[in-house]
Amino acid sequence: MEGLTIGEALTQGTTLLRSAGIDTPALDASLLLGEILRLDRAGLILADQTPLPPEARGLFDKSLKRRLSGESVAWILGRREFRGLEFAVSPEVLVPRPDTEILVEAALEFIDARGASPQLTLLDLCTGSGAVAISLKHERPGLRVSASDISPPALDLARKNARRLLGRSDGINFLPGSLFAGISGSFDLIVSNPPYVPSALLETLAPEVRREPRIALDGGPDGLDLIRPIIAGAPEHLLPGGVLLLEADPGQMPAITALFTQGGYGNIRVFQDLSGQDRVVGGIIRGTNT
Ligand code: GLN
Repeated sequence: MEGLTIGEALTQGTTLLRSAGIDTPALDASLLLGEILRLDRAGLILADQTPLPPEARGLFDKSLKRRLSGESVAWILGRREFRGLEFAVSPEVLVPRPDTEILVEAALEFIDARGASPQLTLLDLCTGSGAVAISLKHERPGLRVSASDISPPALDLARKNARRLLGRSDGINFLPGSLFAGISGSFDLIVSNPPYVPSALLETLAPEVRREPRIALDGGPDGLDLIRPIIAGAPEHLLPGGVLLLEADPGQMPAITALFTQGGYGNIRVFQDLSGQDRVVGGIIRGTNT
């Protein structure tokens, strides 16, 4: 068989992925081949005419097969970029999504509005891979960050990500447990991207998403099984003027803003994701001494 050039291999891989209905065939093919050849996209373009080494071809075929069988690129590579950082991912955690960057941005807005407040404290519930907590600590190193998850393997992975990305192991206080169980003390900011997919919809998700851990996605009958106790429990763990920020589904926003209002939060605000959909909601707990 004739050898292929790198450019030809990419074209073939892209065509194969496109014919299987994959949304971003060219991007996926270049990420998979780039990983094997240790080249970024620019490097692949420069190497367009270079013959593809036969062992790389075998590996590329294997990766393409995994992608065709419904595994995401993040799973195949074992990592996913989020806010410019490379997070290790595993079958135990949700792959960080671009939409969740909105949660980080909303948190930064609140943190920066506090200006020179010394040592703001932050709690990230359902931290998973640690993407939200670690990005915030990375971008605002003065924050005192705690992060919890009910899943021990998720917490292990988050700890490893923190060690690698923050360059130290004690940058974030990781706490095992369900939501507020085991959380003591109060925080200026509580953030969470909890599981919020209604159980009945789990089967309708894209194949890549269906392979992710159910515990990270399943939000019960209406998707709010974790969101309700977070909204109810956060005031006890928020300092006066503290903020709760949650990611959820756009369709859940009216119900969630009602829960915020009933829970006594003020300044309730909704933030849009990259496709203009309501994705993050926040509210403030006022001081009780006024
Ligand atoms: N945004 C995710 C999805 O669409 C859901 C994430 C979650 O439940 N926290 O699959």
